[in-house]
Amino acid sequence: MIYDIAIIGAGCAGLSLAYQLTKKKNSNQKIIILDNKQFFTKDRTWSFWKTNKHDFEDCLDKQWSRFNIKFNNKKKIFESLKYPYQTINSLKFYKKIQQSLTDNFELKLNTKIKKIQQTSNYFEIFSKNEVIKSKFIFDSRVPKLNFKKLYQHFFGIEIQTDKDFFDSEEVSLMDFDCDQKHGVHFFYILPFSKRKALIETTWLSKLNNLEKKKYVDEIKNYIEKKLKLKRYHIIREEIGAIPMFRKKNENKKGYINIGLRGNINRMSTGYTFPYIQKHSEFIARSIKNFKINSPISQKYEFLDTLFIKVLQNNTKIMPSVFFKIFDENNQDSVIRFLSSNSSFYDDLKVMSKIPKLIFLKQMFN
Ligand SMILES: Cc1cc2nc3c(=O)[nH]c(=O)nc-3n(C[C@H](O)[C@H](O)[C@H](O)COP(=O)(O)OP(=O)(O)OC[C@H]3O[C@@H](n4cnc5c(N)ncnc54)[C@H](O)[C@@H]3O)c2cc1C
Repeated sequence: MIYDIAIIGAGCAGLSLAYQLTKKKNSNQKIIILDNKQFFTKDRTWSFWKTNKHDFEDCLDKQWSRFNIKFNNKKKIFESLKYPYQTINSLKFYKKIQQSLTDNFELKLNTKIKKIQQTSNYFEIFSKNEVIKSKFIFDSRVPKLNFKKLYQHFFGIEIQTDKDFFDSEEVSLMDFDCDQKHGVHFFYILPFSKRKALIETTWLSKLNNLEKKKYVDEIKNYIEKKLKLKRYHIIREEIGAIPMFRKKNENKKGYINIGLRGNINRMSTGYTFPYIQKHSEFIARSIKNFKINSPISQKYEFLDTLFIKVLQNNTKIMPSVFFKIFDENNQDSVIRFLSSNSSFYDDLKVMSKIPKLIFLKQMFN
């Protein structure tokens, strides 16, 4: 049998696309979804500012309207009732989409794809035990890490305390009062309740020398020395690296990369989930002619490239730049900028927090 569509990877991008395709009523396309994993778990949380409507409100763990950012022992607190910060529980998301799959879908787990080959009429997808044939492929296998490039890389633990400890209504977005020797570094706290939070150590740097033990030591040190929290236990861990660069696009007729593999993330911020949703909608809408727009406009690609150049060449000043961006702007403008919904005026205000000489130097380099 030859499938019409094969989706490789039942992660965020693969399942988001499947979800959009289920909305196409009366489709008789035969679609197979293939994934390496044996079962679905809560392997991550996806957070973002809700600046647009989406279909996954029922998968939220929590949302917040108050945030803080810390630098040099200063703390800026800001609020946005217009754009709440939402966190999606990946397991709820995976389950919702699995349940929405119609009869024309087949979900096959425990299937590691080793190779894909193109013949004149279809693609051959090789796993250990079989060769699956499909006319179109959407591929979300996560690409190998490149140790020479810049990433937003992080390690987080979800912890439980036996006494009330966290302010459950305030997200700590970036705490820069920590070691900045090997890149831009901050801690991030998502408090799900007074006794439960996700705490992450995040670096904007190359991946050199960062093994798991180092991340673990950093977090423990932060929790015990900085937060002065002694009694807690770890519920789960998550680790990730989001590229702050663009990989060469390998798309060809009938074969499209999606998710992080397809560069569907904002380079400067790492936010990916909302763009994957948009990309999936675009694909489902234009699957016949395969003219699929990018969900990240040229404007943000340009601004992010510039911002990352500044960041790479001026690591030391970046914590103060991030702090100023939040401290000296209207918070809704900043949120719109970070969420790709900004006006030209918002862009100017945010970018003006980069020292002028540095900005001009990178602009013309
Ligand atoms: C821990 C973590 C936290 C994140 N937090 C946020 C956040 O808060 N906000 C945000 O916007 N973005 C976040 N991201 C970034 C991004 O949203 C996620 O990485 C998202 O899951 C990317 O979707 P994807 O489909 O590209 O990759 P994935 O969701 O990782 O899916 C890829 C799938 O491919 C499968 N696969 C891989 N290789 C093979 C193979 N050879 N054969 C078959 N299957 C294979 C994997 O098992 C996996 O299921 C986070 C990323 C991580 C890792």
